[in-house]
Amino acid sequence: MIRDVALWDGRADGVVSGKSVLVEGAMITDVFDGDIVGEADHTVIDGGGATLMPGLIDMHTHLTLTRGIAEVRDKWDATANGAMAGEAMREKYLKRGWTSIRDTGGATTGMARAVADGALTGPRIWSAGACITGTSGHGDWVHAAAGLCCAGGLMQANDMTYVCDGRDEVLKATRTNLRKGASFLKMFANGGVASDFDPLESYGFTLDELKAGVEVAGDYGTYVAVHAFSDETVNRSLDAGVKCIEHGFLMREETVARMAEVGAIFSWQAYASIVSFADPASLPGFSADHIRKGLRINENAAKVPAWMKKYGVKTVAGSDLYFYNTLDSLMQDILCKEPFFSPVEILRMHTSTAGEVLAMSGPKNPYREGPVGVIEPGAYADVVLFDGNPLEDLSVLADPDNLRFVMKDGVVYRDTRP
Ligand SMILES: [Zn+2]
Repeated sequence: MIRDVALWDGRADGVVSGKSVLVEGAMITDVFDGDIVGEADHTVIDGGGATLMPGLIDMHTHLTLTRGIAEVRDKWDATANGAMAGEAMREKYLKRGWTSIRDTGGATTGMARAVADGALTGPRIWSAGACITGTSGHGDWVHAAAGLCCAGGLMQANDMTYVCDGRDEVLKATRTNLRKGASFLKMFANGGVASDFDPLESYGFTLDELKAGVEVAGDYGTYVAVHAFSDETVNRSLDAGVKCIEHGFLMREETVARMAEVGAIFSWQAYASIVSFADPASLPGFSADHIRKGLRINENAAKVPAWMKKYGVKTVAGSDLYFYNTLDSLMQDILCKEPFFSPVEILRMHTSTAGEVLAMSGPKNPYREGPVGVIEPGAYADVVLFDGNPLEDLSVLADPDNLRFVMKDGVVYRDTRP
C-alpha cells in the first residue's frame, strides 16, 4: 500500500491529497481516501504527502540508436548495440521515472519481449520493429557509393531497418516485423534530417506502398505510424489511412484540421524540433546538409503545436532523443512544451493519452491486462513519486532529486524517500 500521497491519476485537472493506492502483483487494485482500517499484512510505503502520478511514457524513441545512425552502421555489432540499449533502458529511462516507451524503429522486438518476460530490466516497450523505408529513404543507411546490387537488400544495420520497394516488399517487411513481435508499424513516408539521400521535399513511399503497410497493420488489428515532415507527405499518408503522424513539423494549418477530422494522432517531438534544431550544428555527426534541414524544420515546428490545440488533435509526445548524450534531456523535452500547453495538458501527453495510443496496437499490444498511464483500479502498477506538484510547477520534474520512488509492474526500481 502506497499511503499518504497527493494523487494525480493521469487524467484529472489537479491532484487530490490524502490518497492511498493498493498494489497487488503487477496491478493497482484499489485507490481510496486515507488508510486501510484494521489488520492488514501488506507492505506500507509512506508517500509523505508527495505527488504520486503514473510513470512517464516516451512515445517516440529509438533504443538501438543511442550512438546515432553512423555509428550503428559502421562501428557496432548487434551485441554491443543491444548492450548500449540496455544501459539506456535502465539508467536513462526506468530509474528516472519513464516506465513505458514506444520504440519507433530499430531492432527492439526481442528486447520488448525480454522485458515483458522479465528476462531484461527496463521500461515496457511497444516496438515498431525495423524501420520500413524505401531505397534512398530516411531509413536507407548504406553509403552513397553503394550500387544497385548491394544498395538495399532487405535488411540493414543489424536488422534495424528494412529497405523495400514496391507493394510486395512492403508486405514482406511489415509482416516480418509482426512475426518478430512488433506492436505497430513505422514507415518512412518522407525525407528526414539525420539521413543522407532524402531531401525534405521527397516522398519516401508511393501511395500504393503506404497502403500496403496500412493493409497489413489493419489485418493484424494494429496501425501504422509514419515519419512525415512535409505537408504533402502527411496528406499522402492520411490518404493511405495512416493513423499516427510522427513529427509533422512542416504541416500547414489546413492539414492539421484534416487530421482532427479523420481522428489521426499527432506524435510531437518538441525538444528535437524546437531546441535541438535551433542549433543543429551542436548535434554529433550532423553534416552541413543535416544542419540546413534542421534549421528549416525549426522555423515551422514552432507553429504546429498551436494548431494542434486549436483543432483538438489528439497529441502524444516522444523525445526522439536518440543520441546517448541527448537522452539526458528527456525531462527538458517535457518542459519545453510549456509555451504551448498547460502542465496538465503536457503531462497527459506522457501518461493517459499515451496509454490510449499504445492500446491502439490491439491484439499486438503486449500489455492487455489493463491500461498504462493512469492510476486506477485495474491499471498496471507503474507509478512515480515526486516531491512538489508538477501540475503547478512543471520544473519539479527537472531535478532528479525530486524523484523519490519508481514502481513498474509492482516492482520498485528506485526508492530515495527521506
Ligand atoms: Zn524518430
